[in-house]
Amino acid sequence: MNDCLFCKIAAGNIPAKIVYETDLCCAFEDITPVAPLHILIIPKKHMENLHSMDENDSPIREALFSAISHLVEKNHLTQSGYRLVINSGDDGQQSVPHLHIHLIGKRSLQWPPG
Ligand code: 5GP
Repeated sequence: MNDCLFCKIAAGNIPAKIVYETDLCCAFEDITPVAPLHILIIPKKHMENLHSMDENDSPIREALFSAISHLVEKNHLTQSGYRLVINSGDDGQQSVPHLHIHLIGKRSLQWPPG
């Protein structure tokens, strides 16, 4: 999508600290981290949220979960723990309309979120 911030990051047209990349997805550091580790994992294909996926997008779903596993292990989070967040729509306070999974860790997190 021409006007999408995260599509531009995935295409390399806006700089970001990319920490993982395959042909289907990429992950980069959040510009405003809420924890010492705050990574956004996105599909390269533009889709607004999980509900935008169809049955042909199963490889993307698998790629996103593989990215999570890779990043959790790479950052040594399996023992300490971490949080995955998908904000979706207005009530979910989604601010960028391109599906993204927040991977947050390296500090003790509070619950519930506001
Ligand atoms: P949301 O609120 O939609 O779940 O999360 C969007 C996230 O994107 C926020 O955590 C925000 O800090 C991050 N973000 C917004 N603009 C940029 C940007 O230009 N670069 C990067 N790396 N992250 C961004």
